[in-house]
Amino acid sequence: MRRYFNHIVTFTFLVFSVMHFFLDATLVGPVGLFVFAVLNFGVFHLDKLISDTPTVSTHLSMALLVLAITWYLPANASNMQSPAIMVALIFPGAVYYLIGLKPGIVWNLIILAIYTFFIVADTSAIVSSFPLWPTVRADRILIDYWIVFSTMLLISFFIAHVIVTQKMQLDELIKTDRLTGAMNRHGLNQELERGFNQFFRYKNIFSILLIDADHFKKVNDVHGHNIGDKVLVSLAAELKKNVRSSDIVGRWGGEEFIVILPMTPLEGAMVSAEKLRAVVENMLVTNDSDTRVPVTISIGVSTMDTAIVNTEALVSLADQALYQAKKGGRNQVVSLTALPLANT
Ligand code: GH3
Ligand code: MG
Ligand code: MG
Repeated sequence: MRRYFNHIVTFTFLVFSVMHFFLDATLVGPVGLFVFAVLNFGVFHLDKLISDTPTVSTHLSMALLVLAITWYLPANASNMQSPAIMVALIFPGAVYYLIGLKPGIVWNLIILAIYTFFIVADTSAIVSSFPLWPTVRADRILIDYWIVFSTMLLISFFIAHVIVTQKMQLDELIKTDRLTGAMNRHGLNQELERGFNQFFRYKNIFSILLIDADHFKKVNDVHGHNIGDKVLVSLAAELKKNVRSSDIVGRWGGEEFIVILPMTPLEGAMVSAEKLRAVVENMLVTNDSDTRVPVTISIGVSTMDTAIVNTEALVSLADQALYQAKKGGRNQVVSLTALPLANT
């Protein structure tokens, strides 16, 4: 949505420019708005040149909007109450929606300050220096406008705040595994993708551990599915407890977990994997009759490098390492590196 914000502002400027061309007594307002529309269109292209995020154009558009309002307030000679009130009703909420809650409140308050200025301050001196401007309309309409705008600013802020908070909770829920509370496969895929992109953009290396509980079917068979679940919950907690806070632990599926280790080369990943293997081997989980349930894990380790073409290839490499760890007798760590490009 933010990407289109600039176009929405340009379009609004154009519509109001045409409307006021027919309604206003002077051309100051409509011509000013038309100039702002052209400038704002330019901002969009400027943004494409200097950054690939829409943030710069969003703020430049807001700045132009503020300038346009400042320009138009004293020039508004049309006695048009209803469009002004409509804008005051819709504008604050639309700003939160289009540019986000925090920047929205800042820009809305700036606009409110301008209205306040035109009501409170003696602007006749400023206006008389622009002979084309008719008298300042620091009258009932502007005060009505101010009241509607500030009320809507508050109401829409609280609504937007509730929506944003709920959306954040929902985003969190979508990425969370119900049983263990760890990140789920969907979340892990997003994090892997992010790591992959950052590797090629910033050369940030990272490693992954693909962890699989050994003979887990037997745990279920001997102790029951509930104890199996309990083991998975303890396993996830133990993994989380024994990695850095910047590391990401998630459930890949069934009794398989993935740990993503940002900024960690293979040697570091092997140390971390060996630590986790030992910790789980000594982990205490009991069944219904308070007997200890022995749990071990096998770990396949792989590290990102330029020969790896996508995240699936990175996981597949760890999977091949895991297969070797299983074949080698389980409860162990094996790593695999991608073949250099020249050898493939
Ligand atoms: P291996 O050492 O070769 O990995 O043997 P394994 O028995 O762990 O491997 P296998 O893939 O044959 O079995 C995985 C088992 O994990 C089968 C399934 O019942 C169990 N499992 C998968 N998800 C859950 C779960 O959410 N809860 C419980 N209790 N068990 C699960
Ligand atoms: Mg498995
Ligand atoms: Mg298993």
